[in-house]
Amino acid sequence: MLNNLIDSIKECGLVGAGGAGFPSHVKLSAKCEYVIVNAAECEPLIRVDQQILIHYTKELLEGFNLIIKQTEAKKGYIAIKEKHAHIIDKLSKELTQYDNIEIFKLRDFYPAGDEQVMVNEVINRVVPQGGIPLNVGCIVTNVETVLNAFNATKGNPVTKTFVTITGEVSNPATYRLPIGISYKEALKICGIDNTQGKVLIDGGPMMGKVVFDFNEHITKTTKAIILLDKNHSLIRKKIMSIDQRLKQSKTACIQCSRCTDLCPRNLLGHDIKPHRVMRVVNYGLSDFLGLKTALGCSECGICELYSCPNGLSPRKINVMIKQELGKAGVKIDNSGKNYEAAPMMEYRKIPVKRLIQRLDIKKYDRDAPLNDYEYKPSKVVISLKQHIGAPATAVVSERQSVIEGELIAKVDEQKLGSNIHASISGVITSVNSHEIIIEVE
Ligand code: SF4
Ligand code: SF4
Repeated sequence: MLNNLIDSIKECGLVGAGGAGFPSHVKLSAKCEYVIVNAAECEPLIRVDQQILIHYTKELLEGFNLIIKQTEAKKGYIAIKEKHAHIIDKLSKELTQYDNIEIFKLRDFYPAGDEQVMVNEVINRVVPQGGIPLNVGCIVTNVETVLNAFNATKGNPVTKTFVTITGEVSNPATYRLPIGISYKEALKICGIDNTQGKVLIDGGPMMGKVVFDFNEHITKTTKAIILLDKNHSLIRKKIMSIDQRLKQSKTACIQCSRCTDLCPRNLLGHDIKPHRVMRVVNYGLSDFLGLKTALGCSECGICELYSCPNGLSPRKINVMIKQELGKAGVKIDNSGKNYEAAPMMEYRKIPVKRLIQRLDIKKYDRDAPLNDYEYKPSKVVISLKQHIGAPATAVVSERQSVIEGELIAKVDEQKLGSNIHASISGVITSVNSHEIIIEVE
């Protein structure tokens, strides 16, 4: 057992398991008033949080209690949708032992799991545009990260990740899979051999990325593999190029401003107006301030996949503009600004049921129970960049034997990053600056 929680978390390579992979030892080193476990799981079809909460309730609460103490928070909340009554029941029974933890019930809307939306729901404070929850005294953490923190206190590093496999599969399920196996292997575990004519989404249908190459490998942040027909309308929309999107918007944007009206960040009072960005792009106006509002975009996808009556994608155009503004060093200036959520927010939340219909994924909206099958791969390809920050540096060399859980790449003390461990026992057969391959002898 390591000396303290942050050392354990750092040593064991924890990153935010549900998002971009921010190193947890950095996030949880801060002190705050409140810690929220983000159990909203607001992306349709993903079932990981629900399965962890029901199968690892005690471990999760113990891990959360340690995090609350570490951050010196006066209260911890588990923010979960009220529709999960059986999970809330189980949590409530265990919570009698913790007077510093409460359950916060959320309505079933998207994006309840956007951490800025969540902070406003739970503690009624708006995170400043371009800021983080800590700016208003709060830390938001992911369910699997909390479980990993508990495991870290027992000296167990992150070598596996919980993944819901769903979509065009007969028996959707949630598995705990070794990091570095291919999507192809993961699908095979779920009974899928033939992926002809299919593509997959790594992550949720709204924010996940489309993957064409099934030989790519899962990482610490892989939460879902959604197998879909390559002609599914969702895939067609998601893979449209920026050039196609720009052409489309020039001919079809009617400036109705529905994208702005339903934008969750706009409803939080942030200066983001996607319809204005579209106007500037479409008419070639030099309205720099209009373009600057793109910086507030969380890329939640509501405008692209739900609100626009003409199927346009302010999201994709915002992403392009954000990249350009980033290169030019333009940042959000929120100094001296007070943000207040719009009174209309409550009435403009997107019900997940309606979103599922709009995405045409209703037939995939099924349970994906935890399957405890322990897959033993013969080879894993482990990326050295599974987190925000600098890639980890390999500390092993070719032909070296390693055992599962052994440190194979380390974060530089001066840099933001995360340690990486062997997910299987075997021999290192390749090391380069991007990845390490381990094969069973
Ligand atoms: S909702 Fe669509 S049509 Fe309306 S302003 Fe936004 S991008 Fe244009
Ligand atoms: S993706 Fe669209 S709806 Fe979501 S934050 Fe960006 S502009 Fe707003």
